[in-house]
Amino acid sequence: MLRNIMESMEFAHQIAAAVQAGETTAESVVTEALRRAQLVQDEHNAFITIIDTAIEQAKAVDAKRAAGETLGKLAGVPVVIKDNICTKGVLTTAASKILSNFVPPYTATVVERLELADAIVIAKANLDEFGMGSGNENSAFGPASNAWDTSRVAGGSSGGSAVAVATGVAPIALGTDTGGSVRQPAAYNGIIGFKPTYGRLSRFGVIAYASSLDQVGVMARSSEDIALAMDVMAGHDPQDSTSVVDDVPAFSAALDDASLKGMKIGLIEELCGDGNSEATVAAIEKTKAQLTELGAEVVNVSLPNIRYAISSYYLIAPAEASSNLARYDGMIYGNRQGEDSLGQAESMMLTRGEGFGPEVKRRILTGSYALSAGYYDAYYGKALKVRRLIADDFAKAFEDVDIMLTPTAPSPAFKIGEKTDDPLASYLIDIDTVAANLVGIGGMSVPAGKAEDDMPCGIQILAPVMKDERLIQVARALENAAGNDFSPLAKTW
Ligand code: GLN
Repeated sequence: MLRNIMESMEFAHQIAAAVQAGETTAESVVTEALRRAQLVQDEHNAFITIIDTAIEQAKAVDAKRAAGETLGKLAGVPVVIKDNICTKGVLTTAASKILSNFVPPYTATVVERLELADAIVIAKANLDEFGMGSGNENSAFGPASNAWDTSRVAGGSSGGSAVAVATGVAPIALGTDTGGSVRQPAAYNGIIGFKPTYGRLSRFGVIAYASSLDQVGVMARSSEDIALAMDVMAGHDPQDSTSVVDDVPAFSAALDDASLKGMKIGLIEELCGDGNSEATVAAIEKTKAQLTELGAEVVNVSLPNIRYAISSYYLIAPAEASSNLARYDGMIYGNRQGEDSLGQAESMMLTRGEGFGPEVKRRILTGSYALSAGYYDAYYGKALKVRRLIADDFAKAFEDVDIMLTPTAPSPAFKIGEKTDDPLASYLIDIDTVAANLVGIGGMSVPAGKAEDDMPCGIQILAPVMKDERLIQVARALENAAGNDFSPLAKTW
């Protein structure tokens, strides 16, 4: 009975409709989701916490229905939340030893809004420590492995969230995206990853990495589920001063407009050629042909300064991180190490030395260096100027095109351990994704079939500031064209 329920309800919109109609119960859906979570955990290490008490929330949703109350848009839908997003009373570690027993006293606004719509948080997902990484290998809890091949990385930093969606544990997961952390793992696991315009989703309750770049993003296997989650979560939050106050579009409305007639799409030349794997280039070509068939006009655009995006990002992100992570000193935040008799400075040094992993330390050192007196102008200051030039390039190109197109990553998921000795090699993977964060625009990774070794491949679409719904429209059109092959489940249950 339970099997059949989940088999016919792969997507959030189907589950919510069935729970609302009383065709199934939230309890039975969540029971099955928790069962899957445990099996996926054993195989992929996708989670840091599986929330068994989620059953109680599910029962509460069922009780609401029994009492005749109208249920929310995500009634009974299991959701997975990246473990750097705070959940009241539930361990939230950011995959760091320093926060390994942090239980937040409040819930992030985005999660609160999902719960208000009757979604059920069933697990907290694995990630790179504080979101710093591109393979989920920098987690104090060990790497999450790819949904399609356990010898490969899940992608990063929201690796566990992507695996949860790709394996069918939950139809919707939240990640955070500072330089590509929602889009790249989505591409590596064959699902949609959407980072909206900066400020569109509240960051209240999200553990900060680089505040001028951080944005919450959604992962799902259908454009309809992405739109549904956005409709529920978007909108101003007075608790986050960077949250935009403009009216929110009905993201679901973009689903009805799946024709791309008259849309002009710019292929970013600098990101589509050399440096990409053969199959990635082929995927771009295939997508280009599909988009043309769907009525869009695809042209080449050049963004000359985008070649400095990685350098700029890897100064700005660590600089902001070095400041944001200063709070983990064992005084208020962070597991304090050493005897109480230690002096303050020694206690802080011991706490930070023991609590942070090597990549986080590297970022704190680089960031502090880039910000230090005498080097500020040469590094951080220059990175900010380059950021402006890249933004100008985008603004100019968007005068002529409606959206832009690039690969999401230069190649499909790499082998676990392959890049651990070479941090620069891992930074370069972010070449396609960091610009959207530097500029603050929305970006989405859409499945584009399989690449080398039969691993999933994604293409990235980018829209001007606050035009995020265009991305949902394009994803919907590509999804319609691909049919059942669009985002297949990595597991059969
Ligand atoms: N890979 C990038 C980094 O390590 C992006 C991470 C992210 O978006 N959180 O900084």
